[in-house]
Amino acid sequence: MKLLFWALVVLAVLWLLRSKKSTGTPAAAGAAPDNGAETMVQCAHCGVHVPASESILAASGAAYCTEEHRLRHAS
Ligand SMILES: [Zn+2]
Repeated sequence: MKLLFWALVVLAVLWLLRSKKSTGTPAAAGAAPDNGAETMVQCAHCGVHVPASESILAASGAAYCTEEHRLRHAS
């Protein structure tokens, strides 16, 4: 009876490891495109596309490629 219990424990551990692996792989594959492609925003002044992290955001919510274009567009 003890042997059957341990056999079930081993099977349960193996099943958990397998289910963890199978759920981990698609998540990792799905996360890769998100990390690789950055959101691009268009400069409201000159229309050039810049990565969102490098854009200058105005209080109005408009994005600009440079601080100069933000100031020029505001005036
Ligand atoms: Zn610009």
